[in-house]
Amino acid sequence: MTDFSMALNDDQKTLQEWVHGFALNVMRPAAHEWDEREETPWPIIEEAARLGIYGVDFLANAVSDKTGLSMMIALEELAWGDAGLCMSLMGTTLGVAAIMANGTPEQQMEWVPKCFGTPDDIKLAAFGVSEPDAGSDVSSLRTRAIYDEATDEWVLNGTKTWISNGGIAHVHVIVASVDPALGSRGQASFIVPEGTKGIRQGQKFSKMGIRASHTAEVVLEDCRIPGSCLLGGKDKLDEKLARVREGKKASSQAAMATFEATRPAVGAQALGIARAAYEYSLEYAKERRQFGRAIIENQGIAFKLADMKTRIDAARLLVWRASWMAATRTPFLNGEGSMSKLFAGETAVHVTEEAIQILGGYGYVREYPVERWHRDSKIYTIFEGTSEIQRLIISRAISGVHIK
Ligand SMILES: Cc1cc2nc3c(=O)[nH]c(=O)nc-3n(C[C@H](O)[C@H](O)[C@H](O)COP(=O)(O)OP(=O)(O)OC[C@H]3O[C@@H](n4cnc5c(N)ncnc54)[C@H](O)[C@@H]3O)c2cc1C
Repeated sequence: MTDFSMALNDDQKTLQEWVHGFALNVMRPAAHEWDEREETPWPIIEEAARLGIYGVDFLANAVSDKTGLSMMIALEELAWGDAGLCMSLMGTTLGVAAIMANGTPEQQMEWVPKCFGTPDDIKLAAFGVSEPDAGSDVSSLRTRAIYDEATDEWVLNGTKTWISNGGIAHVHVIVASVDPALGSRGQASFIVPEGTKGIRQGQKFSKMGIRASHTAEVVLEDCRIPGSCLLGGKDKLDEKLARVREGKKASSQAAMATFEATRPAVGAQALGIARAAYEYSLEYAKERRQFGRAIIENQGIAFKLADMKTRIDAARLLVWRASWMAATRTPFLNGEGSMSKLFAGETAVHVTEEAIQILGGYGYVREYPVERWHRDSKIYTIFEGTSEIQRLIISRAISGVHIK
């Protein structure tokens, strides 16, 4: 057992420094502007693509790290730079993760590069699961996919909501029901290529936080896509549906398989926001003087910072463990992926709120970044499974009881 180490290796340290530089020099100075504009920050995405931080090679390098840590390190730094800008870069990876989780090797080779495009011709992807009446309960999706045998096409109808990059993405991955009677086991994931008729953006949402990331409805009206756009292929889907109809367990559920793989990555982003707020408020507490002394000299402030740092480090350990487990295919027997997302998300909300308290009035106004970090943090207890749903997954895993 001599090869065990908790230290980052040279490649990981180099990656961390490189991405930190981008976060510090490109994202931080632009964060306030794009939060106010509430628009997709194309110049930032272009710069990231030019530097090699947005693109298929970056993703391939990060996920090829057998320890699973590289992607977590990069995401923490990007969200430290700014969570909204980070989501505008990472929204694409939600669609990519769905293709990687459910697509055949040929589909992965064809579509993953198309999700990112090239620095001269940038593309975005989106992953559409949530619907107005199906958020946490993904088994009740109403979007239907019907196969048209005559033309070998799938016809999609339905409305997706809260979709990151929804309607502006060049590649949409849509989860739809093929057989509604089978709930989530009757669903499949479909690629809607750029230029397809029958897909459009609905309402664009104005949000509390991560406002540089575009969030909108996606409306599908008789949207016809080639048969080859069914992820995993029709034979595999037919086999799965047959097994489920016979009462046998399906090997995986389309949407859940994707969310499992992405949870530590969501936790890593929450961690980045928490660390930004902690570092800022630590420095502030050393500088700010009241009653003739720095406010950090009061235990009431210093103990807050001690707790913030402790929780951040604990969250990082959970995120890294879950990502290591995913990379080494260690089974998640206790909902460890969910634990990482749950704890990191709630840590980000707690730490950013404490940071506002430490800054007092300065924490509450838009001239300082701390209130933005708090607004940004809240989404991490909501999307990719709310905190309650993470607790449901963990409690079911540890108890074997179907907790409701
Ligand atoms: C900014 C943003 C970006 C998003 N991006 C995407 C995206 O790219 N793709 C996508 O598909 N979706 C996306 N979502 C949707 C997101 O995943 C959902 O909002 C989330 O899953 C919760 O669903 P809901 O909003 O319908 O809440 P609901 O499911 O209606 O939940 C409401 C409340 O009830 C609680 N609750 C529900 N069921 C239970 C239960 N069984 N036990 C205990 N409590 C329960 C929830 O925890 C929550 O507190 C995004 C959302 C936002 C806001």
